[in-house]
Amino acid sequence: MGKIVLIGANHAGTAAADTILDNYRGNDLVIFDSNNNISYLGCGTALYIGKQIDGTDGLFYSSKEKLEAKGAKVYMESEVSRVDFDAKKVCAADKNGREIVENYEKLIIATGSLPITPPIKGLDTPNVAYVKRFQDGQRINALLDRADIKTVAVVGAGYIGVELAEAVQRRGREILLFEEAATSLSTYYDDWFTGDMDKTLADNGIKLHFGEPVQEIEGGDKVRGVVTGKGKYQADMVIMAIGFRPNSALGRDSLETLPNGAYKVSKKQETSKRDVYAIGDCASVFSNAVEQSAYIALATNAVRSGIVAGHNVCGTPIESAGVQGSNGICIFGYKMVSTGLNTEAAKKAGYNPVCAQFEDLQKPAFIRKDNHKVKIRIIYDRDSRRILGAQMASYQDISMGIHMFSLAIEEKLTIDKLALLDIFFLPHFNQPYNYITMAALSAV
Ligand SMILES: Cc1cc2nc3c(=O)[nH]c(=O)nc-3n(C[C@H](O)[C@H](O)[C@H](O)COP(=O)(O)OP(=O)(O)OC[C@H]3O[C@@H](n4cnc5c(N)ncnc54)[C@H](O)[C@@H]3O)c2cc1C
Repeated sequence: MGKIVLIGANHAGTAAADTILDNYRGNDLVIFDSNNNISYLGCGTALYIGKQIDGTDGLFYSSKEKLEAKGAKVYMESEVSRVDFDAKKVCAADKNGREIVENYEKLIIATGSLPITPPIKGLDTPNVAYVKRFQDGQRINALLDRADIKTVAVVGAGYIGVELAEAVQRRGREILLFEEAATSLSTYYDDWFTGDMDKTLADNGIKLHFGEPVQEIEGGDKVRGVVTGKGKYQADMVIMAIGFRPNSALGRDSLETLPNGAYKVSKKQETSKRDVYAIGDCASVFSNAVEQSAYIALATNAVRSGIVAGHNVCGTPIESAGVQGSNGICIFGYKMVSTGLNTEAAKKAGYNPVCAQFEDLQKPAFIRKDNHKVKIRIIYDRDSRRILGAQMASYQDISMGIHMFSLAIEEKLTIDKLALLDIFFLPHFNQPYNYITMAALSAV
């Protein structure tokens, strides 16, 4: 067994480290992370800012101590500044500036992603915040404790922007939500769904400015407002949430990448250089829906890629099953889940998409309690009839249903396979003519 160096110990890095330490003895595992914490669940940021959970204690599941107890050597607050891929060594500096050099036999890069910073004026104004690390959430939380922060502009209505808008509204601040696209969540959902989400946001007092990208942040010593093509809006704080880019500075010149800079990896997480692996948000994933490498930055993908890399570096050859980009969101109780491609993405990928859809109560109408409307849309290719994506929404928790569609896309099933699928019925759960069957039967 050999020496493995791991750069980055958040979700992907922790999964790789645990896989190596729990399953293989005799490896020398050295871990670097530039941050002072490990395994922060970013999904908790909006929940604690919006005071929907008690605090931040449960938002970490690993630590330097836990990894060291299993045998790793962990350098925290130590940023790797250079990798010499030919000499197989990494150079880092700890928080006191002390240089650390470690050689490796196998290297795993898990440096994650960074918030996208658009080329607009005023981003360096105090009270402009980003949402990524634990510290970023704490900063937003502290700003919202201040009495002078009355109006907040959130830029970006993807899932993080929408979650933050809800959280800020729950803190009693006026909230303006800006988005370049015509709706929220347009990457994942069709208009039939985003229309409901936009209404939910508006009904809860969030002022929507869609089709209105922010061009400038006005201020100087503090934020005074934002400027778009349609007007100027007063604001005391800006939260930037327009997405993430791969943090691949260490290997961009030496390793093959996608156009956005993500390390291109095989299904074993191997980069274009022998003995160098990349995982999580800094790496590509294989999208089963488009049947090629893609960039989908999600903790779920990060964890799975870490497990795959952990086994491969230790000599057990396993391959990723690819991903569907399955995701979910819950805003003011309204729940939406999707997997695979929405109609627009399917068209862009060269398919000929059509939809089969249905809307009904979750349970028979005689069940009066906890019985909400559910809508489902299944997107399939008109020519091959292959399922490409699915979207579901309800105030009910219907999330488990989407996993079946994830597997259907992975297995390249056709819409016709679903129409007569054995789906159980019990009034406590669903209807005899349930919405999945009904949607599939309506396929042309
Ligand atoms: C607010 C928010 C909510 C989210 N909600 C969800 C959700 O509900 N579901 C979901 O699936 N995903 C969610 N995500 C996405 C998810 O958090 C990321 O996909 C995930 O963090 C990726 O993990 P990672 O380990 O690849 O990268 P990162 O989390 O970016 O971690 C990279 C690590 O590498 C370290 N590092 C970077 N460069 C260096 C260097 N040069 N030297 C040493 N260390 C370095 C960093 O300090 C960091 O610890 C959310 C993200 C955010 C920001």
